[in-house]
Amino acid sequence: MSDAQPEGQPAGQANCVFCRIAAGEIPSAQVYADSEVIAIRDVNPQAPIHVLVLPRRHVAGVAELGAGDLGAENTALLGRIVAVANRVARDDGIAEGGYRLVINQGHDGGQTVGHLHLHVLGGRPMTWPPG
Ligand code: AMP
Ligand code: ZN
Repeated sequence: MSDAQPEGQPAGQANCVFCRIAAGEIPSAQVYADSEVIAIRDVNPQAPIHVLVLPRRHVAGVAELGAGDLGAENTALLGRIVAVANRVARDDGIAEGGYRLVINQGHDGGQTVGHLHLHVLGGRPMTWPPG
């Protein structure tokens, strides 16, 4: 058996849930999309507004950005993800009240999906410190 990607699979990781969502293979409640980034509602929301902003291309986590060098492409990608998060916050009516942006990295960071995503949480006061 070859472990080459079967024909018709999306570019990226065949078994990555967020790659499959970005490719339209798994349904999602999408609130924003452009050529590089999508935003979807979290299936298990932790606040009245809980949106995930993710790059279409597979990046395993935020630690991958700048792991080798702080390339302009990486920094531009993260800037774009934050800009989309701010837009989602405005569109969902939580910009004025405030919101929290979270990126979990790795096991101890609480990351459960190995495809970079930024959580946008709002619609209630957040507590600190996070759990
Ligand atoms: P993290 O724990 O930071 O990796 O966040 C992963 C998030 O993805 C969790 O909040 C999950 O509820 C969410 N999630 C997992 N699968 C899906 C899916 N198919 N659609 C939307 N959100 C998902
Ligand atoms: Zn992926």
